[in-house]
Amino acid sequence: MVDVLVYTKSYCPYCRWAKELLSAKGVKFQEINVERNSATELKMRKESGRDTVPQIFIDGKSRGGFEDIADLDRAGKLDELLGIRSIGGGLEDSPTESLVILGSGAAGLTAAIYAARANLNPLVIDGLQPGGQLTITTDVENYPGFPGGVMGPELMDLFRKQAERFGTRIIYGEVTGTDFRRRPLELKMGDGKTLRTRALIVATGATAKWLGIPGEAPAPAGYGGRGVSACATCDGAFFKNQVVAVAGGGDTAMEEANFLTRFVSQLILIHRRDKFRASKIMQDRVLKNPKVRVRWNTEVTEVLGNGKTMTGIRLKSTAGAAEEIMECHGFFVAIGHQPNTAAFRGQLDLDDAGYIKTKSGSTRTGVPGVFAAGDVADRIYRQAVTAAGTGCMAALDAERYLEEIAHG
Ligand code: NDP
Repeated sequence: MVDVLVYTKSYCPYCRWAKELLSAKGVKFQEINVERNSATELKMRKESGRDTVPQIFIDGKSRGGFEDIADLDRAGKLDELLGIRSIGGGLEDSPTESLVILGSGAAGLTAAIYAARANLNPLVIDGLQPGGQLTITTDVENYPGFPGGVMGPELMDLFRKQAERFGTRIIYGEVTGTDFRRRPLELKMGDGKTLRTRALIVATGATAKWLGIPGEAPAPAGYGGRGVSACATCDGAFFKNQVVAVAGGGDTAMEEANFLTRFVSQLILIHRRDKFRASKIMQDRVLKNPKVRVRWNTEVTEVLGNGKTMTGIRLKSTAGAAEEIMECHGFFVAIGHQPNTAAFRGQLDLDDAGYIKTKSGSTRTGVPGVFAAGDVADRIYRQAVTAAGTGCMAALDAERYLEEIAHG
């Protein structure tokens, strides 16, 4: 039996995803919340060499954060580290599903609510980020029905409960490949199994983008987890009274910047143009915040450090001036998202940015029986409420399709 220890904080989606991944593997682990205990936080930092949560230790050895163990899982190495014997093989005997929904964000769970109420007995595959992007936001002020606003993770818990109330089955897992030439449709799962289904709703959403600059990668290659982060709600509190930079000019950057001002002494918001893309209300909030200083027309070209922790960033003016080095203790990347469509390349029509193309006015893709909903097929609106709306449409489209094939 291996010994697994997870350092966490309460309001941390990555911690939740790490725990779900371990639980889905049937692994028992000890959890230490470092939120109000500076001694354990210090211990975690010392032993992992990182200042982000979660930090996972397997048999006393630091294995990094959620993304590190998810990478190990994708590479097929995590089970061995956890002492799990592979049972291997395909799911040759598993019954064919009527409807599988990939993704458990606003689109996937809304599709599940509608499909479950229509007695389609949907199976939701959670994906590596259960609950989707709303679980890494704080206040959601524009989701109808919540006049006082609602926290993103709380909203997704409500979606989930509502889907489960009507009998939706939700399992943890990741689809790594697909074969849509076959009927039923085939889904290759990360653990080597194969799932078969008559209809499929793809609601795999989008994932935060990185700049791809030197020093940004996760430790030990770079300062990811040692100053660089993409989740202010997870890691903001590590930067009390310190100078922190955020890159980006959209709503995500505004939200991250605003949230971080609860902790930091100064927040430098770095944007490559002279205008934000963010909504007016979110911009105004940031621009009025006395802790925020904006660096317009500026790009971050490198994260600098002393080998142990980051110490600053290299900046370059997009207007052509010389480079400069800015000292800071933390750097949050908030430059938008890319659609999670790697598993569908060569199977579904994607646009030049990788979003799934749907037939106008519906959620139908070019493959009969495969529907797409939410951010994975939406490069324009990308809102929780539009994701929920297209999730509903996908369930109705799938229901109609299943009726058609049932009646020949
Ligand atoms: P956006 O695509 O809206 O913004 C991305 C920002 O990052 C842009 O300002 C862009 O610059 C900048 N950027 C992109 N690539 C780079 C790069 N390589 N180097 C430097 N800067 C870069 O993404 P968001 O995640 O901010 O928002 C996505 C959607 O989610 C939006 O529809 C938004 O409204 C929504 N959202 C809503 C929230 C809320 O209502 N609470 C919270 C967060 C997001 P440029 O402007 O020059 O292209």
